[in-house]
Amino acid sequence: MRKTLVAANWKMHGTKAFAGQLLAELNSGLKSGDCSAQVVICPPFPYLHLVAESAQDQLALGAQNLSEQVSGAYTGEVSAEMLLDCGARYVIVGHSERRSLYGESSALVAAKFAAAKSAGLIPILCVGESLEEREAGKTLDVVAEQIRAVVALGQADTWQNAVVAYEPVWAIGTGKTASPEQAQEVHQFIRQQLGETGAQVQILYGGSVKAGNAAELFAMADIDGALVGGASLNAEEFISICRAAD
Ligand code: 13P
Repeated sequence: MRKTLVAANWKMHGTKAFAGQLLAELNSGLKSGDCSAQVVICPPFPYLHLVAESAQDQLALGAQNLSEQVSGAYTGEVSAEMLLDCGARYVIVGHSERRSLYGESSALVAAKFAAAKSAGLIPILCVGESLEEREAGKTLDVVAEQIRAVVALGQADTWQNAVVAYEPVWAIGTGKTASPEQAQEVHQFIRQQLGETGAQVQILYGGSVKAGNAAELFAMADIDGALVGGASLNAEEFISICRAAD
């Protein structure tokens, strides 16, 4: 049985004071045993330490990005080892904002996925189509290409200790959520692409998830949780999303 996983992507929001306050509220609202979902918090890099030091056990730490390089003269980059060192267990790779705003190709995303895995971090691989691609009927082709780039790494255990997040670009930060049926169709397709281990892999949905739509998404057979942006900046809303799994 796959456990529900709810991950908060704080993106580039907040201050130290904001992060501390939000975390205090999450700590008191999500005590161990309070909800059945696994919960991951992905703050901006400068606040990784703060979350690592003050988050209670129910909350795992994740980062939003990493370098594909192990170490060296790569100014401004952060390695998988450094993230582990800060207490992270997860890292988001290939978020659509990284792909579109920072020109990350599927090959680079795959290299980051590999760097995370070889260091022992659990990558959360984001895939998803733009509105234009959906309207052109290319959704499944786009998602298949993004997954193929990772499969092309040729690792035997590619999807073990890895998570996939389907985030249709048109649903991110727009208030337009994919319907549970639309999301389920793509999630089922993604699972088929993952091969033999696919049945064990947690596949999250992301894109305007809120307290009001989480339960209907989580009820779908191949939706195993959510990657939450905007709504993760509000403790009450995020806690309700986590509880929607119960
Ligand atoms: P929103 O929840 O704000 O739509 O963002 C989704 C997302 O990009 C999570 O990674």
